[in-house]
Amino acid sequence: MSYIDYVRCNCFKEGLSKPFKYIKYVKLVGNYFELELPDEIKQDEALADKIYDEFYDWRDFPCEHEDGEYYSCQLGGKIQYYIYLMKAETDFSALLSLSPDFNNDGFIPTSYNAQLRAEIEELMKREITCYNFVSKEPIGWGMYFQHYEVAENVDELLCEKGDEKLYSCNDVFRIEKNGEVIFRSSNFTVERIINRRFIFTDHDKRAESTVFFDLNLFRKGNKQRLYYEKNTYIMKNELKYEYENLINLLNASDLIGNPICWD
Ligand SMILES: [Zn+2]
Repeated sequence: MSYIDYVRCNCFKEGLSKPFKYIKYVKLVGNYFELELPDEIKQDEALADKIYDEFYDWRDFPCEHEDGEYYSCQLGGKIQYYIYLMKAETDFSALLSLSPDFNNDGFIPTSYNAQLRAEIEELMKREITCYNFVSKEPIGWGMYFQHYEVAENVDELLCEKGDEKLYSCNDVFRIEKNGEVIFRSSNFTVERIINRRFIFTDHDKRAESTVFFDLNLFRKGNKQRLYYEKNTYIMKNELKYEYENLINLLNASDLIGNPICWD
């Protein structure tokens, strides 16, 4: 999941590429260099292979910029993660487009640059308070439960099966069966009895369910006590690195005129 985000340079278009004997057969297709050899060369397989090898070497450093990238970095998925956590998708639609599956070509048109700038500046003003489960078990657990961060005052359906639904809202976990609350707790034990049978316990409270949101937690058939942790994330701290990189990408894109790409 590590994508490189970059803005391509214009050296090829401006004739500033490093020498390559067969450069006349090189084309910039979208954001990629392609070599299209004529049939008379392709017929000589050994020669064609040799030319392709030379082309791949040239392509790594086609000009003064490695890979022909004027600026490159790794934005990762943190920006998108926080936007989804805030349920603020409509406020940050351009930032959400900065992801590998936005379109097949892997770029965002330069016409979105101004919107991207406005959105990242707005995002940096935000903060979010979340609740997530923590286990007393020290190894590995924190990592799993970070996937279940829920924003404050959001009643999140964690999972469901048939008539059973598991919810989390602030520091309260609850199980509903046929629309009725059968268990509610902020600090409880969950035990996997058999394959699909879980016992939830909190002092005098006890409930059984056939559904739980992460079966991997119970690979060893163990019993865990879970409680909540509350965290406030201030975007200008959390996304400092991503902010700087995105601004650099936008500056490069505006200067050079090429879009922000990723692959
Ligand atoms: Zn260049």
